[in-house]
Amino acid sequence: MRVRLTIIGGLLLLLGVFAPAAERESAAIRCELAVIGGGSGGFGAALAAARLGVDVVLVERADCLGGNSVRGGVNIWEPVVGGTGIPFELYRRLKQQPQAVGIYTHGRHMSTFDPKREAYRFPGGETVIDPARRYLDTLLRHGLQGLSAAEARTFRKERWHGVVFEPDAMAKTMLAMLEETGHCRVLFNTAFVSAQVEAGTVHSAKLSDGRTLDADYYVDATGDGVVCMAAGCETMMGQDSRARFGEPHAPTNATVRVNGVTLIYRVAPVAAPAVEPLPAGVPEKCWWAGKFPSAQINHYPNGDLNVNMLPTMDGKEFLQRGYADAMAECQRRVRAHWHHVQTACAEFQKFRLSWTAPALGIRETRRVVGEYVLTEHDLLAGISGQKHPDIICLADHAMDTHGSHAHGIGEMQQPYGVPYRCLIPKGKRNLLIACRASSFSSLAASSCRLSRTMIQLGQAAGTAVALAKELKVDLPDVPAERLRASLRQQHIQLDYPMPAGLRAYLGRE
Ligand SMILES: Cc1cc2nc3c(=O)[nH]c(=O)nc-3n(C[C@H](O)[C@H](O)[C@H](O)COP(=O)(O)OP(=O)(O)OC[C@H]3O[C@@H](n4cnc5c(N)ncnc54)[C@H](O)[C@@H]3O)c2cc1C
Repeated sequence: MRVRLTIIGGLLLLLGVFAPAAERESAAIRCELAVIGGGSGGFGAALAAARLGVDVVLVERADCLGGNSVRGGVNIWEPVVGGTGIPFELYRRLKQQPQAVGIYTHGRHMSTFDPKREAYRFPGGETVIDPARRYLDTLLRHGLQGLSAAEARTFRKERWHGVVFEPDAMAKTMLAMLEETGHCRVLFNTAFVSAQVEAGTVHSAKLSDGRTLDADYYVDATGDGVVCMAAGCETMMGQDSRARFGEPHAPTNATVRVNGVTLIYRVAPVAAPAVEPLPAGVPEKCWWAGKFPSAQINHYPNGDLNVNMLPTMDGKEFLQRGYADAMAECQRRVRAHWHHVQTACAEFQKFRLSWTAPALGIRETRRVVGEYVLTEHDLLAGISGQKHPDIICLADHAMDTHGSHAHGIGEMQQPYGVPYRCLIPKGKRNLLIACRASSFSSLAASSCRLSRTMIQLGQAAGTAVALAKELKVDLPDVPAERLRASLRQQHIQLDYPMPAGLRAYLGRE
C-alpha cells in the first residue's frame, strides 16, 4: 500500500500537481506556437493554428480575450470586405445567444441634420440595429467615390452595415472556441516580458510570472509589436515622410503624430430622466479641443448606447502624457463629454453613465518593418492592380486618420489585398506579426486596422504556422499558394467580387 502511494505521489509530482508554487513558476512551458496577445489578431492566430493541430499557448496580460474589441469597448465591426473566415463563425455563435449581436444600419448623422424633422443636431453619428439585415450586408465598404452628398447619404443608409456585439459575450465565445480545439492553453493575467533571440530566430520568451515559454514559432499579436521590439526588429512610428514610400498623401517630412485615442463609455436607460451632475473639478466647458468632439453613438443589442468620442485625446498628447496620465485625463473628459451630450440633446437624459472602458482605445502606436510594407500605393492600385502572389486577406476600409493627417484618399475604389510578407518581420525566421502593428505604412494602417481585418491576419498567421510545421520549413518559406489554398478552404475571401460558393456559405447564417 505504502509503495503504491509513493508511486502515485511520484507520478503526481512529475505532473507538477504537488510541486511547490515557486518551483512551478520557474518551470518552462513548452509548445509549438506561442501567441502573445489575445485581441483580434491573436485570437485568429491561435484558433486557426490550434484547429490545424498545432499545440498553442496564448499569453494575454489581461483577464479576458478580445483586446480593444472587449476591454477597449470597441464593440463594432465596421463594414469591410473580407471578414468571411473566423469573424463569420463568431457572428453565428453570438447569434445563438440572447442580445449578444446585431447588424446595424445608419441612423442620424450630424451632417444630415434636418431642422424640420429634428429638434437639434445629433452630436455625431448613430447606428441602430436593423433586424432585416444579414451578415453578408456587412462585407463591403467601398463605393462612395464620386457620389454627391445626397447620393452618399442614401448609399450609407442602404448599403453601409456592420456588426455590433456585447463585449462580454464576445470574450466568452472566443475562449469557448479556443477550448473546443483541445490544442490551446490560454494564460490570462500573464505578460510577455522579453525574448531570447539568436540569428533571426526567437528561442524563448520570458513571462511576467517568471516562467519561460519555449516554442517553435511565435506570433506577436500585442497590437504594439512588443515581441518584435524585444526581438530587435526595425519599427516605424508616426507619419512616414513622402520620400520613404513615395506615398502621394504622406507629409513631406516624417512626424511623430499618431491617430487619436478614445476612452469609450456606455450609457444605460433609466426610469427618471436627469442630467447627471459633473464631478468636482470637471469643468462644464470643453478645455481640451476648443469644442466637444463629435461622437459615434452605437446601439447595443440590449438597448444601451456605446459612445465613441472622435477622439478623446489627440495621439501626440497621448504619447507625451504616457498611458496612466492619459487614462486619468480621458476619464475626466468622459464625464465632461457626457454632461455636454445630455445638456445639448434632451433624449440622452433618459440614460445614465453605466460603464467606462477599462482600457484606452488606442488606434495606432508602432508598426514593424516586414518583408513587405503595405503602402498607399497598394490601396490606390486595388486588388486588380496589385501583383503580389501572396495576398492572404482583403480590406477596403477608408483611410481614416482621425485628425492625424491633413488629407487621405478617403474611400477605396475597390478592395486591396494584404500580402503574407506584411506579417513577416524583416529577417526573422520563426516570428510573425498579426495585429495593427503589422508591416503597414502609417497611411495604409489607417485603413486596414479594423478588427475583422486583424482576425483575418491572425487566421493567415496561424495557418502559415501549421503549414510551416507540416512542411518543416521556416515561416518565410511557407509556399504562398499552399497558404492561400488553405485559407480558401477556411472560407477566406481572396477574390473580388465574391465567388458564388462563398456567398452561398455566408448566406447560411
Ligand atoms: C476607439 C477605437 C475605435 C475603433 N473603431 C473600430 C470600429 O468601429 N470597427 C472596427 O472594426 N475597428 C475599429 N477600431 C480598430 C480596431 O478595434 C483595432 O485596430 C483592433 O481591435 C486591433 O486588434 P489587435 O489584435 O491588433 O490589437 P488588440 O485588440 O489591442 O489586442 C492586443 C492584445 O495584446 C495584449 N498584450 C499587449 N501587450 C502584451 C504583453 N506584453 N503580453 C501579453 N499580452 C499583451 C493586450 O492586452 C490585448 O489583449 C477602433 C479602434 C479604436 C481604438
